[in-house]
Amino acid sequence: MSLLGKTALVTGGSRGIGRAIAIELANRGAKVVVNYAKSEKLAQEVVDSILKNGGVAMAVKANVALEEDVAEMFKKVSSEFGGVDILVNNAGIVRDTLLLRMKLRDWREVIDTDLTGVFLCSREAVKGMLKKRWGRIINITSVIGEIGNIGQTNYAAAKAGVIGFTKALAKEVGSRGITVNAVAPGFIETDMTSSLPAEMKERFLEQIALRRIGKPEEVAKLVAFLASEDASYITGQVINIDGGMVM
Ligand code: NAP
Repeated sequence: MSLLGKTALVTGGSRGIGRAIAIELANRGAKVVVNYAKSEKLAQEVVDSILKNGGVAMAVKANVALEEDVAEMFKKVSSEFGGVDILVNNAGIVRDTLLLRMKLRDWREVIDTDLTGVFLCSREAVKGMLKKRWGRIINITSVIGEIGNIGQTNYAAAKAGVIGFTKALAKEVGSRGITVNAVAPGFIETDMTSSLPAEMKERFLEQIALRRIGKPEEVAKLVAFLASEDASYITGQVINIDGGMVM
């Protein structure tokens, strides 16, 4: 499952699941672009650890919700790494609160980052992939986009939107050798879940067949498989990685 000769862009690669994906793809030989919005130091640490292991990587700052930032990022990747073969749309945020208390800002920030970001990055990436007649787009959605959750109407809507987007784009670009899939993690140990109240964590654990929280590295292995030649006949799918939470 070598990714030698490919360039991968991982949005939100500075922390959590994105960090693990960036490192896994680099371990398999891909040149990796570690995108971040704020955590410059952490993004650089990911790059440094890849370089230390003999890999090739660079960090690029861009807010995936902003059209100009995304265009600039792809320009930079194109000139320095020769375009993107593998796009992992991983950047995401939560702004949890009950609907009646949800501000329009909470709604918009989540939709803009978690859904519009996927649209903007995919639109840029597809241009080069169409020319090469090869590409992999892997969108990190969530089980919440499938089953919903109290206090997450904004996040569930964005992540369900990512699933619809994945299927539509898979149909649009399939004939050009580009696969588009979604990965739906359950409860994974990252900064995003570390602040969840203990009772909510307990409630989640009761619903997980394997009775444990997942690790970012476990998600990264699935993403690396989908990015590889071995996954050449898989497209338009949503693959859950949730310890048996949703089945
Ligand atoms: P995390 O630890 O909070 O990390 C989020 C990453 O996204 C950071 O690298 C952050 O970069 C980046 N980011 C946020 N806003 C951005 C923006 N506007 N532009 C570019 N980058 C941005 O989150 P995580 O738990 O690893 O989650 C990664 C993905 O998995 C998300 O899409 C999330 O919804 C999904 N997911 C997570 C879980 C879970 O249990 N953890 C479950 C299901 C799905 P900066 O630090 O620079 O802001």
